[in-house]
Amino acid sequence: MTTLQHTPMMAQYWTIKNNHPDYLLFYRMGDFYELFYEDAEKASRLLDITLTRRGQSAGQPVPMAGVPVHAAEQYLAKLVRLGESVAICEQVGDPATSKGPVAREVVKIITPGTLTDSSLLDENKDTLLAAVFFHENLIGIAVINVLTGMLTLTEQSLFDLSSTIERIGPAEILISEGQKNSHQELPYCFVERPHFHFDAERGKKMLCEQLGTFDLNGFGAQSLALAHSAASALIYYIEHTQKQTNRIIHAITVENPTDFVQMDPNTRRHLELTETLSGDMSPTLLSVMDTCKNPMGRRLLRHWLHHPLRDITQIKQRQTWIEVLVAPEHYDSLQQLRKILQHIADIERIVGRIGLKQARPRDLSALRESLALLPSIEALLINCNQYVFGNFINALKNTPSEPLTLLQRAIKIEPAVSLKDGGVIAEGFDTELDELRLIQHNQGEFLVALEQQEKERTNIPTLRVEYNRIHGFFIEVSRSYSDQVPLDYQRRQTLKNSERYTTEYLSAFEEKILHANERALSREKYLFDQVIEELNNSLSALKSLSVQLATVDVICTLADRAIALNLVKPIMTTEHEILITEGRHIVIEGQVERFIANHIELHTQRRLLMITGPNMGGKSTYMRQCALIALLAHVGSFVPAKSATITLLDQIFTRIGANDDLASGRSTFLVEMSEAATILNRATLNSLVLIDEIGRGTSTYDGLSLAHAIATDLAQRIGCFTLFATHYFELTELATQLEGIVNVHFDAVEHGEHIVFLHTLEEGPASRSYGIQVARLAGIPRDVIYQAQRKLNMLENFTPTTKPTTPHLAVVTQQDLFQTDPILEELKQLKVDELTARQALEILYRWREELDQN
Ligand code: ATP
Repeated sequence: MTTLQHTPMMAQYWTIKNNHPDYLLFYRMGDFYELFYEDAEKASRLLDITLTRRGQSAGQPVPMAGVPVHAAEQYLAKLVRLGESVAICEQVGDPATSKGPVAREVVKIITPGTLTDSSLLDENKDTLLAAVFFHENLIGIAVINVLTGMLTLTEQSLFDLSSTIERIGPAEILISEGQKNSHQELPYCFVERPHFHFDAERGKKMLCEQLGTFDLNGFGAQSLALAHSAASALIYYIEHTQKQTNRIIHAITVENPTDFVQMDPNTRRHLELTETLSGDMSPTLLSVMDTCKNPMGRRLLRHWLHHPLRDITQIKQRQTWIEVLVAPEHYDSLQQLRKILQHIADIERIVGRIGLKQARPRDLSALRESLALLPSIEALLINCNQYVFGNFINALKNTPSEPLTLLQRAIKIEPAVSLKDGGVIAEGFDTELDELRLIQHNQGEFLVALEQQEKERTNIPTLRVEYNRIHGFFIEVSRSYSDQVPLDYQRRQTLKNSERYTTEYLSAFEEKILHANERALSREKYLFDQVIEELNNSLSALKSLSVQLATVDVICTLADRAIALNLVKPIMTTEHEILITEGRHIVIEGQVERFIANHIELHTQRRLLMITGPNMGGKSTYMRQCALIALLAHVGSFVPAKSATITLLDQIFTRIGANDDLASGRSTFLVEMSEAATILNRATLNSLVLIDEIGRGTSTYDGLSLAHAIATDLAQRIGCFTLFATHYFELTELATQLEGIVNVHFDAVEHGEHIVFLHTLEEGPASRSYGIQVARLAGIPRDVIYQAQRKLNMLENFTPTTKPTTPHLAVVTQQDLFQTDPILEELKQLKVDELTARQALEILYRWREELDQN
């Protein structure tokens, strides 16, 4: 579309839009942001706002949709949640002096990963931006929290990409041009950036510049060239979207994926750590564990659950903190600590906004109230145990006092919401502002005082100081006293009986009063900026304070949960064993009337538990409970059991359920097998593997054979701890054939048509599946159930080809069910040539009869 034929405004619109083709352009028109053409159509669809027209341009109607500026935030939040990015185009010229359309320019680009506005951010979750640089089989990843400037660098194998991305959960990922198609499996918001943005040399140089260091050795990041390339792209992108020159990076952490118990995306999903399988926020491990009193704590707890530790020292450190807090003698201190933490503001984000110069007045008052609470937190921690909590106590002690003193002096007790309304800076902080305010508030008194003062000076009893809208302030003297008027009086107006004067002092006052409001506002803005500037000197101290406070909140929460949910401190060990007595599933136990606790015993001689039992018997629950207990133990939390000894794990894997992955063109069975392949290729002796049914998505023989081979490989070659739930009873044979495999089962009892699941784990294999009873529970029509039962009876009554080898296996195996057909078997054995015609006919009649009976 050529811009020549457009109206001047649309020509301007197109120039700006063409420079920002990838974003929805919010084009400022007075009190509205308007979107045109395709943007308008898209926005009207996504935001459910009216699509209308704004006249014509280039001979065509201009589709338009708009949102009021004052309500823009809620629309932006919705768009960003939907993964859209928006360019905000403001009027930057003066409408009064503009010829043609007012000058406009894009002042900010809002993208899901670069959000910093408090109203757009999710309080419970960090908003992170990641960049990934691919190099052969390796990747460099840089992840930043734009608000706080915390950057994490990682280098790792390409193979781990999806696990790492799932663990970090960035809102947006930058990749180099042309990479999108190769990584479609990742369900994230990808943005392609020019290849030259991924420049290792520039990345390293920028990092040094931003951190004010000569090199990156101090951070252990000097030689991470792939991560430097990713960081370079991040910095380009932030500069491009934020359109400002504030410092972007405040600290670097180098992360090694092997610092954490690794879990692939499926495992995180299946264990329902922070989201249920259906995408809800509750009930999940996080929803049960999160009673944090503070948003910083809430975000950190989520991070901890996704980052179980492998370092036993760190785990034990967390355990010790919790142990002190759960002691009965510290119960009151714990409650008080939590009460105070509730009143601590989101210092992390406030400090981030201070750094970005986006802080609002209420941010500063909230920061002040929070800083004032630090001594009480310190005292309570000292009261509990000053050695164990030494780190926190020192951090609190070492928080500089200047910010609090400054905020107490500078900011009103209850400042206005917005700086533009004034009423933010406290009285007594600045004489000029005080004077301006005094003038505003006390102008009446000021005039009375001036009148009195002038009367005395001039000896004119009728002198009056007055004000009117046209002439402003003046001193009125009746004509009879004109000769007594002092020399510094300047005549302004002559009336019939009086003269009106002004003085330099009065003019100055007038000037002051008339502009006092305006000047007070701009003075407040100036002072506010000064305060922000000064707070910036304490930024890094305040940032580390926020980390400490978040940690205190999380450990208090874990202590609270330990008490409320009856959790126990697990013993972490390097011995190859997991021993859990009376373990519980922390989420399910809140959902059922009575949860049955179960033991878990895994060690070298008992490394694969073959779990059988009826549908609905509790197999999945048991396996997940084992994984969740192990995971919580690695987080440093107490665990739902009577006692627990947990070996240090390197990875947790799950292969659970049947999901099509239609988006990437993978069938249920292919998904199942690729999950199994990942496990077999990656699990080590120190991994925990949960397999909940495998091989069900194909023919019985194929599936059974695969399941058999997979279980054997896990137990024999890898030797990891495996919980293997199956309905293939044939697999229970493995326990008799291979060392390290043990059968356990769940049971149920039938009462007439009803079935009761016992949910108690027993040794040995199960006897039957109760599939038909469960189908009845599920509401399969009675007729169908009846037919199924008849068929089952028939199959069970005919001779199975294989006899069960264990006493528990009292009925036919599944293999038998599908393999045997007595008539066919008899036919196979029949010596047809030796039969007479009559015998053959008799056999045929008999078969016919048998078939009719069934
Ligand atoms: P399927 O073979 O059909 O997948 P399953 O054996 O895996 O079934 P689960 O899904 O673990 O069975 O359990 C079914 C339901 O039984 C759970 O949703 C829960 O309500 C209940 N349940 C499981 N374990 C217990 C337990 N230990 N105590 C009380 N209730 C339990």
